[in-house]
Amino acid sequence: MVARQIVARGIKDPRVLQAMRDVRRHEFVNLASQPYAYDDRPLPIGLGQTISQPYIVAWMTELLAPTPSQHVLEIGTGCGYQTAVLAQLTRHVYSIERIDDLSSQAALNLNRAGITNVSLAVGDGFEGWPAHAPYPCIIVTAAPPIVPPELLNQLGPGGRIVMPVGGAGAQQMVRITRRADGSLHREELGAVSFVPML
Ligand code: SAH
Repeated sequence: MVARQIVARGIKDPRVLQAMRDVRRHEFVNLASQPYAYDDRPLPIGLGQTISQPYIVAWMTELLAPTPSQHVLEIGTGCGYQTAVLAQLTRHVYSIERIDDLSSQAALNLNRAGITNVSLAVGDGFEGWPAHAPYPCIIVTAAPPIVPPELLNQLGPGGRIVMPVGGAGAQQMVRITRRADGSLHREELGAVSFVPML
């Protein structure tokens, strides 16, 4: 998976590649999807949601570039796979999911994988998680029509937010960086297809 799908498409960060090798993706998908866990595509995780294609997880993680001392806010825990990858690379991951059953499943998956530096919450990701703000890194794995203002409020100086933005069929991968002077720098990095942020 890492050689053919991720390195071959240009992901270079050695820490990201190691994290993608270390997390056992088949432990995060349901039984029916396990034979396909390392395929080059998204997979259903139940309740109409999907786990992203492995390359997309690696790309977003490289764009986010978290350091070992930083904490990360993630919106859209899903099955906890992206959470697990981030947990390899950072001090702590705070992750919010709106669907209770998915958050519970993610907690089981992360626990079984022996990952302890994560906190999960059920709630509305549009509100962020103010208690641990400001964040140096924010990642969103569902697509809202516009960048949620409250997430920008919780982004610290020098921080980065990586997320899909836009309606069905017209989403872009966006990275917004908050410069030291507080101003925002926005990059549009290519067309993507995510479930909507609701
Ligand atoms: N990162 C996940 C991908 C999950 S798909 C993984 O590795 O499996 C996106 C997730 O975002 C879905 O589980 C969906 O329920 C969740 N979501 C959508 N809108 C949300 C919102 N407003 N707040 C929190 N989670 C949301």
